[in-house]
Amino acid sequence: MRKLAPFYRWVCLSACTVFTTALYAQTKTYDSATIASLKKEVFSLVATKEKPIQEMIDMIFSFGELGFQEVETSRYLTEVLSKNGFAIEKGISRIPTAWFATWGSGSPVIALGSDIDCIPKASQKPGVAFKDPIVEGAPGHGEGHNSGQSVIIFAALAVKELMQKYHMPGTIIIWPGVAEELLGSKAWYIRDGYFKNIDACIFTHVSSEFAANYGDNGFNGLVSVKFSFEGDAAHAAGAPWRGKSALDAVELMDVGWNFKREHLKPTQRSHYVITDGGDQPNVVPSKACVWYYFRERNYEDIKSMYDAGIHMAQGAALMTDTKMSYQLLGTAWPGHFNKALAEAFYANIKTVGMPQWSAEDNQLAVGVQKLLDAPKKDFYGRDINGLRTTIDSIRGSVPFSWGGGSDDIADISWNVPTVVLGYPANIPGTKGHHWGDAIAMATPIAHKGSLAGAKATALTLIDLFTKPQVLADAKNYFKNVQTKDVHYIPFLSAGDPPPTYLNKETMDKYRPQMQKFYYNPAKYKTYLEQLGITYPTLVKK
Ligand SMILES: [Zn+2]
Repeated sequence: MRKLAPFYRWVCLSACTVFTTALYAQTKTYDSATIASLKKEVFSLVATKEKPIQEMIDMIFSFGELGFQEVETSRYLTEVLSKNGFAIEKGISRIPTAWFATWGSGSPVIALGSDIDCIPKASQKPGVAFKDPIVEGAPGHGEGHNSGQSVIIFAALAVKELMQKYHMPGTIIIWPGVAEELLGSKAWYIRDGYFKNIDACIFTHVSSEFAANYGDNGFNGLVSVKFSFEGDAAHAAGAPWRGKSALDAVELMDVGWNFKREHLKPTQRSHYVITDGGDQPNVVPSKACVWYYFRERNYEDIKSMYDAGIHMAQGAALMTDTKMSYQLLGTAWPGHFNKALAEAFYANIKTVGMPQWSAEDNQLAVGVQKLLDAPKKDFYGRDINGLRTTIDSIRGSVPFSWGGGSDDIADISWNVPTVVLGYPANIPGTKGHHWGDAIAMATPIAHKGSLAGAKATALTLIDLFTKPQVLADAKNYFKNVQTKDVHYIPFLSAGDPPPTYLNKETMDKYRPQMQKFYYNPAKYKTYLEQLGITYPTLVKK
C-alpha cells in the first residue's frame, strides 16, 4: 500500500500536468497590473476570514492532541478541506492522522504545510497570566501548533476562489506536520515520494516575529532513538545474583553518555528520558528502555553521535549481560530554506505589516514575561518587553550557530524549494515546550497574528501562481546554491515504520476529561468566552 499510493499520485499529477499544460499553462501570463489587482482582491478576501480563523485556532487548541494521536484535529481539518472541494488522501505514509489534500490541476504545484501536535503536561487556560491547567496533567498547545493550519487553509481558500474566478491553472496541496515534536512524519513523507512532483513548499510556524528567512537557520538536525534492554528477573532480595538488570544497562549507558559529552563538539545537544525503568523495587527489572535525541549541526556529526550511542548501548549490554536492540523513532536534517521564496514572502510580510495589538494584548504579554522570568533581551539583542511591533530585515544563513532545536520541515527543505513563514501569534521571551507558551494561543494575540500570516501567505501564493520567474529563481537557488555541495542522505531506511503507537496511552488517559472542554463555536463566540475567562486575567483570584 505504501508504495502504491505515491505511484498513483505521480501518475495522476503527471497526467493532469500534461493535460493542463496543453490547455492553459503556456498561454496564461499575467502582467504586473493584473498581479497587483489579484493581490488586492486576495488581501480583502482573507480579511473576511477573521472569524473562521479564530474558530479553527480555538478548536484545535481545545483538542490538545499529542503527536500521532491527532485524531480529532485530523478529522476536523480534513472535513473543512473536503467541504471546500479538496480531494483527500488519508493515512499517508501509514500515519493514520496524516493526509494529503489536493485541489486544482496543472502547474505549478504548491504544497502548504503546518504542524498539528502539542506538548505533554502543557494543559493551560488561555488569557490568564498564571499557571491554571484546563485538565491537570493533560497535554496542551505549549508550542502553538494549534494556529498554523488556519494560516495555510484560509490563505489557500482565498486564492482558490480567485483561481476559479479567473481560470488560473495550478495545484494546491495541504498537508499536516504530524508528530513534529517527535520529528515523526516529514522524513517519512519524503521517503515515500509524496513531495516528488511539487514545485515549492510553504511551511508556517508560530513565532513572536513576522519573518521569512533563508539559508542555514542555525538549527540542529537529529535522530531520535529508543534503546531497549532485556535481562532476566529475580527476587531482588532473595536471589539478586540470579537476576540480570535491564535498568542497570540503561543507567550505565546514561553514565557513559554523560562522560562522552566532554568529547563532543559544543554544538551538540543530547537528552534522554527513561521510558521504562522496571516495575517495582523487589523485582530485578527484566526490561528497560531509554530514549535519546542526538542533535548536531550536519549529517556527518549526527551520524557520528548516532553510532557512538549504539556503541555505548552495546557496552552497557556487555557490562550487564543483557540484550540490546534499538529503533529509530524520529529524524530531522538541519534546516536550509530558499532565498527566492523567502524574498517573495518578505515583500508581502512588509505589505501586511504587524497586527495592531490592543492594550489588553500587551498587558497579557508583559504579565506572561514577568511570570516566566523572561530575559530582558533576545539572541539578537532586541528588547523583550510586551509584543513585537516591528518587522526586522530579512536574514540569510547564520554565520555560526551554537546549535539548538530541530524541525523535520528540514527534510522537505532538502528535497523541494521550501520557505518557512514565522507569523507573530505568540509572546516573545517564553521558554518553548512549556504550558506558558499556551497562554496566548487561544486569545486575540494568536487570532490576529495568524490572520496576518494568512494574508502574507495568500499574497505569496499569488506570486507563485502568476510569476514563473519566482519559481525559476527558487529552483536555481535550490540546485546551484543549497544542494551544490550538500546532498540529502536520509537516516530512515525503507523498512523503518512511523512509530504511530507513541502517546496513545497518554491520550487514552486524558481524552475523556479533555472532551468536556472541546470548543463549541455554535454556542460561544470564542473559547475564552466558553471558559468564562475575562481577557486578560493577570492575577489569580
Ligand atoms: Zn513547532
